[in-house]
Amino acid sequence: NKFEQLGLNAEIVNAINDMGFESPSGVQEQAIPILLEKETDLVALAQTGTGKTAAFGFPLIQKINAVSKKTQGLILSPTRELCLQITNELKNYSKYIPQLNTVAIYGGSSITDQERQIKRGAQIIVATPGRMKDMVGRGMIDISEISYCVLDEADEMLNMGFFEDITAILSHTPQEKKTWLFSATMPKEVAVIAKKFMKNPEEITV
Ligand code: AMP
Repeated sequence: NKFEQLGLNAEIVNAINDMGFESPSGVQEQAIPILLEKETDLVALAQTGTGKTAAFGFPLIQKINAVSKKTQGLILSPTRELCLQITNELKNYSKYIPQLNTVAIYGGSSITDQERQIKRGAQIIVATPGRMKDMVGRGMIDISEISYCVLDEADEMLNMGFFEDITAILSHTPQEKKTWLFSATMPKEVAVIAKKFMKNPEEITV
């Protein structure tokens, strides 16, 4: 199995087989071995539809300690729709790791319900920047010990004016975490984010 050869473990490979993915896409082939083998920051230039969610999702799930209830991974994405889509995909990928809990945090929906879900334990949070900044600022979410932060569709998030929210959120995360930035394009603003928040990132282009 080609996914196994990239270093993915049996729980994830079984879920991949259930989804019917036959072989890794280009971005998956490039990103997965790097993210599994190295503890590194990453900048990946990849469009939607290339399989980028799995390119960061598979390694993230494999690296999470599902025995601990602590929040270990944070994914920021520009819209509620994308946030829910990523959450659904991650739940599928981790179906054979029942202790692993992924929670979606986004605006326009009950903050109390979302807080309740977080309190049950969420190793992975998928969030839009506005609501996330609000909940972190109010002490409803603790991201002080995360190991991985994914900035998905970074160009879109910056276009939508989320620079300050992202900066505020990241100020609550530890220095040592690894940041994986995915973007369809690399305008100046994205380069600025990469320079500001990342250290010697690996770079891949699809
Ligand atoms: P994304 O670019 O992450 O939005 O993914 C686009 C679509 O491709 C999603 O519906 C995925 O479920 C699907 N997909 C991702 N990776 C693969 C793969 N290796 N083989 C087949 N389909 C895939």
